[in-house]
Amino acid sequence: MTKPGKVYLIGAGPGDPGLITVKGQEILRRAEVIIYDYLANPVLLDLAPQEAERIYVGKRAGSHHYPQEDITRLLLEKAFEGKRVARLKGGDPFIFGRGGEEAQALAAAKIPFEVVPGVTAAVAAAAYAGIPLTHRDHTTTLGFITGHEDPAKKLSSLDWEKLATAVGTLVCYMGMANLENICEQLIKHGRSPETPVVVVRWATLPRQETLCGTLTTITGKVRSTDFKPPAVIFIGEVNSLRDELRWFDNRPLSGHRMLVTRAAEQAAVLTKGLEELGAEVIVVPTIEIIPPSSFAELDRAISELDRVDYLVLTSVNAVSAFFDRLRTQGYDARALAGLKTVVVGPKSAEALAAHGVDADLLPEDYHAEGIVALLKDRVYGKRLLYPKAALARDLIPAALTSAGAEVIAPIAYTSAPPVNAAESLRQALADRLDLLTFTASSTVKNFVDLLGAEHVTLAQKIPVASIGPLTSKTAIELGFNVIIEPDESTIHALLEAIKDYFEQR
Ligand code: SAH
Repeated sequence: MTKPGKVYLIGAGPGDPGLITVKGQEILRRAEVIIYDYLANPVLLDLAPQEAERIYVGKRAGSHHYPQEDITRLLLEKAFEGKRVARLKGGDPFIFGRGGEEAQALAAAKIPFEVVPGVTAAVAAAAYAGIPLTHRDHTTTLGFITGHEDPAKKLSSLDWEKLATAVGTLVCYMGMANLENICEQLIKHGRSPETPVVVVRWATLPRQETLCGTLTTITGKVRSTDFKPPAVIFIGEVNSLRDELRWFDNRPLSGHRMLVTRAAEQAAVLTKGLEELGAEVIVVPTIEIIPPSSFAELDRAISELDRVDYLVLTSVNAVSAFFDRLRTQGYDARALAGLKTVVVGPKSAEALAAHGVDADLLPEDYHAEGIVALLKDRVYGKRLLYPKAALARDLIPAALTSAGAEVIAPIAYTSAPPVNAAESLRQALADRLDLLTFTASSTVKNFVDLLGAEHVTLAQKIPVASIGPLTSKTAIELGFNVIIEPDESTIHALLEAIKDYFEQR
């Protein structure tokens, strides 16, 4: 018989992927099987090796829960196969997560296991809503309770008699369906009807929402705003500190949903920047960098590199496409020994340096125009290699040819709308969106093509932030309402402009 593997009951934290422990993260990196729940952020699965088996045991469509016996059986089965199993549970495994029962089953079957604690929803939601769970001026006692999601199950009134006034701060998990009953019981057993109550849903995620009231008013508010689980309910005087201590849901872009359409490899800086300002960001790249239909021209140019005087690279994509091909053809950076390298700006200089090559020349103006100004008086009689994008403007070849250079301009890469993007875009539009962001004309054009006429009309009603004049022009021509355009065409300036716009509203 195979020696049983080991099971790790890991707390995934409340949602924000940064809130898993370092230990939990390390175990995921080495896991062979991951069995995960509805409330564990699926982003965490990306930490695990590609070949690891991923099994979802959370709520299924129609919101039925996977029976606990089946989950336990699955845990044992995988462990008996000798696997290293990560059982990833929302929050902390031992708080209202049936982790205790799973551990008991493992213990009974003599399967080695470890428990890795996690940041439980109450602690996380309190922190992100600005509610200190204890405070010397308000209370030093704290209780976590569960309110049962199922209203059919009656809450025992005895519990409430003891609980109502025993602890200062009460935090209730799974209590939304029974909220009215819980409030009534607390008042009935001596808690002041004016006690502040705060309800926090999807805590720690950009879509976190909060509702404030008292034991008397909160139920009505939850009903009228259709405030749904998962949510934790905070009951107690400490809630009054929230006004003073809010930090997460009052950032400049809190509560706003924004679409990023940039190519996946390049979306990260914009996405992270928007998220740090508090936005909920939906990333649907409308453009993807792909190889050109033929490499013949580029390959010929690469084989004649020793006769090239200047290598001109006008984007990070051009740098990586050129080097990919150089390597595929069996060369390395030494092939550039005899020529001068010219890049368009600091980002492409950085990308070039990553290949061990420093940029010799960098224009003052980080555009094709800048490159022309930089080179036009140096290139008479010289040979230039300019590996370009399929849709690049003709400016550099035309201007430098007139300046007396021989310009070789093979297509090194092209772009296309990614497959499945249409469906993802429609899904993003089906929910409310407060801003579309476009960082190149091609992202706007592809956006329109992907969506199709019927959905575009909807999208045209959403305000647009564009990175610069060229992109804005395309967007306006295609019927969009461009309300944000930074003075300088950089992601950093775009972020600033978006922040300013929403702050001033
Ligand atoms: N083991 C988990 C709790 C699981 S019970 C933990 O330690 O957090 C499920 C309940 O947890 C939900 O009904 C809700 O009350 C709460 N919960 C979990 N994640 C939450 C979140 N991100 N925001 C608000 N409540 C959450």
